[in-house]
Amino acid sequence: MQRGREQLGICEFEESESSYGAGDALGCRAAAYFSCASEDCGNIILCETHNETCPACGLTFCSSPNARLHDCFYVHQTEGQCENSLIAPLLAQLEQKLALPSQEALREFIKSDGDGFGNPLPKEVPADFALAALCLTGRIENIPFSARFEQENAQRQRRTARQREARACHRLGLNITATRARYNRVGLYKRSTVLIASGALITCAFSGSPHYAQQSELLRLIGIHKQEDYVRDRLSALENARPQLYNLLLKRAESIAQRDSGKADTLESALFS
Ligand SMILES: [Zn+2]
Ligand SMILES: [Zn+2]
Ligand SMILES: [Zn+2]
Repeated sequence: MQRGREQLGICEFEESESSYGAGDALGCRAAAYFSCASEDCGNIILCETHNETCPACGLTFCSSPNARLHDCFYVHQTEGQCENSLIAPLLAQLEQKLALPSQEALREFIKSDGDGFGNPLPKEVPADFALAALCLTGRIENIPFSARFEQENAQRQRRTARQREARACHRLGLNITATRARYNRVGLYKRSTVLIASGALITCAFSGSPHYAQQSELLRLIGIHKQEDYVRDRLSALENARPQLYNLLLKRAESIAQRDSGKADTLESALFS
């Protein structure tokens, strides 16, 4: 891919406030070579780390190593802004599958009553899962360029810790046991992990309990065939190993849940029915 190497200025990307503490948003200020294609963004200019190119249309957008949270790439993909949106066909297939009589219970949960108060599940849940499916099948880069540095850093730290432990075992004449933590199996820097955790947290925040069975079935219909504890594993791995990111996802999930559960508000239905 030939991308411009002409420096445009300094990177204007700001991480969301909560990742640094309230009122402390920092601009990145590294050398910038790209500009964001989103109309809502104000076309800020971006460094090597804070950009992502849409594989469907080739436009470049803001992207953060912390997550696919509010960045323009994520919004472009999940909110139908891409004219070649990659998730649209997956969501259309999901609609068809949900229309089957055998899916009545899941259809009800997703389309008309995700919270027990007659509100549909927030659309971010299927959108996040559909995007995760594309990452898992290689249609979208599963480890975003912007997360690679962070991933390498974490791997280096874990390797150093393991080596230190192995030397200590050796000195003490102990067997070196495999001490890799359970979450090392989970791709903590994979976009699919973050997206699945995000969908799971929104489901839980919205419906008041995890509903793992429904989530597994929804993932299966979208094309992600995994064991039943797949979602739970990803959530607990992220919570343990990347608590800051987990908290960002949780805050986002809570605000989405709040937004959508307001719809059946009695005042509102009285005013608009
Ligand atoms: Zn930057
Ligand atoms: Zn696009
Ligand atoms: Zn942007």
